[in-house]
Amino acid sequence: MIILVISDIHANLAALETVLKDAGEVDAVWCLGDVVGYGPNPNECIELIREQPNLVCLTGNHDAACYGLINPITFNYDARLAVEWTQSVLTGDNLEFLRTRPQSVEIENVTLAHGSPRHPVLEYLLDTQSALENMDYFTTDYCLIGHSHIPLMFYQEDPEGDVRLLFPPPGLTQQLKPRAILNPGSVGQPRDRDRRASYALFDPEFETWAIKRVEYDIRATQEDMRAVDLPSRHIDRLSGGW
Ligand code: ZN
Repeated sequence: MIILVISDIHANLAALETVLKDAGEVDAVWCLGDVVGYGPNPNECIELIREQPNLVCLTGNHDAACYGLINPITFNYDARLAVEWTQSVLTGDNLEFLRTRPQSVEIENVTLAHGSPRHPVLEYLLDTQSALENMDYFTTDYCLIGHSHIPLMFYQEDPEGDVRLLFPPPGLTQQLKPRAILNPGSVGQPRDRDRRASYALFDPEFETWAIKRVEYDIRATQEDMRAVDLPSRHIDRLSGGW
């Protein structure tokens, strides 16, 4: 069983289409939230996500801002402009899809959350101390998260021991061992200075994890963003992956 794990699409249709094509046939798609925000194609991305096999899709903080769970005032100015634009174009049906996504889900030996198991929608997991604290907030072997837009892995070999932070090299299939917190990186707005779209292939039976990176048509997304006057900072950052 191969599961495509994606997160932080951020309304970047060119990136999402490329990732789905690159991943090929999979048994299920698990999306860890932030389907919208920043990018120019929120409706198209939601509609494409909804077609995916055995879909599990969580809510992210940008999704939550669009349907009012989070006040966009907590976002920086440019991100707030993007939320307001997204709200102005989302169809009622697609807004309802976002509104009805869960904040976290447990599937057999895996917990899914957008930010962290402790604060599923908002917490960024970027350091080993926060990851160690979060180990107490899920009981499964693995926890999958997004939100930071950086493909990384927190690994705890011994239940009483420290947590290590690893950056899995793209293209390598890794054998997992409990327990670990895994981030597939971002489809639509990578922030690790690698502009390529990021995703992961996960096999829960054989417990393997592979990060993949793929070039997509960044210019197409940037042109669509310019055409609807989205903030230039968000347009520029796609070229540099920051
Ligand atoms: Zn995000």
